[in-house]
Amino acid sequence: MPRDANRRLGRVAGIDIRFHSSWIIILALIGLTLGEYFRAFNPGWSDFTVAAAAIITTILFFVSVVLHELAHSLVARAHGLPVHAITLFVFGGVSELTREPDDAVTEFKIAIAGPLLSLLLAGICLGLGRLGGPHAPVAAVLNWLGYINLVLALFNLIPGFPLDGGRVLRAILWTANKNFLKSTRWATRVGKLCALAFILYGVIEFFQGAALSGLWLAFIGWFLLSAAEQSWRATAAQSALAKFTVGDLGSPFFPRVAPDVTLEHFIEELAHAHNYRASLVMDDDDHLLGILTAADLNRIPRTAWATTRVADVMVPRAQMATVEPTEGLVSALQKMTMNNVGQLPILAGGAVQGVVKRDRILELLHQQMGPANG
Ligand SMILES: [Zn+2]
Repeated sequence: MPRDANRRLGRVAGIDIRFHSSWIIILALIGLTLGEYFRAFNPGWSDFTVAAAAIITTILFFVSVVLHELAHSLVARAHGLPVHAITLFVFGGVSELTREPDDAVTEFKIAIAGPLLSLLLAGICLGLGRLGGPHAPVAAVLNWLGYINLVLALFNLIPGFPLDGGRVLRAILWTANKNFLKSTRWATRVGKLCALAFILYGVIEFFQGAALSGLWLAFIGWFLLSAAEQSWRATAAQSALAKFTVGDLGSPFFPRVAPDVTLEHFIEELAHAHNYRASLVMDDDDHLLGILTAADLNRIPRTAWATTRVADVMVPRAQMATVEPTEGLVSALQKMTMNNVGQLPILAGGAVQGVVKRDRILELLHQQMGPANG
């Protein structure tokens, strides 16, 4: 079960929509700022109108960001790249593609879809906004939404990886040099330059007296800088691991325990026999029943160890993540991250073949990528 800071909002077109907890704070700040903005520019509005307009605009802003990400995801899916979830972070979202696109044209289409949709929303909102009077609440809401969608489109079109514009740049470079990794590296360098420009401009603003907007620009720059570095590392790691499968790295040796053993017996006699942090729970016929990890044990008070059996605390088979020998290591690593575990049982035709461990994958990654990369 994922234990991260992402909350699930719902499901649209078979795609999970999740948002990072920080969005609650961001939406509250946007709502409060909008309230002050509407009040300042529309002195004739009642308190109720100001509050309602601020809340509705905040919700529609959130919807705009979700639609932007859905545009990326639906185009990706139309090109055979399954998307299981969209997660909204600060400054936008991430569509969780299960893998990178195979060709530059697909990459270009997926990357451009989001900004195009935001531009379309901006056009519709600003167009409709002109129909009302200058202080009509509906027009005020539409105008603000129109401008913010314009900002969303333009910000994302900055040509620095991993922003949409950076992916567009990567697609263009990729078409020219036919080298995915090299193109990613160059798009990352441009991304870092853009980020440094934001930071520099923010610092200048700060010392010219615009402290708050200066800090904001510097913060956005810092965010872009770390995002560029992280995305580059993720891409480099994925391509280093791409040629290996679970079968190449899995170990046939793994600790096992019977379901009816008590925790006391397990800890005194079995846990010391190996230094693994997880044991597979199997019956006498070699059927996999579940997995027992150190975290599961820690949930049970020591006084209950003599009376609690392994089967009572294990994660049962139905809730366990597993891998097949032919599965790629990138996919295995993603499953470990999603399920917050350090190892996965390898199953072939329902029979346990061994385990693959995160440490081993990271070790291999280290060997493949060598020291200091970027
Ligand atoms: Zn986007």
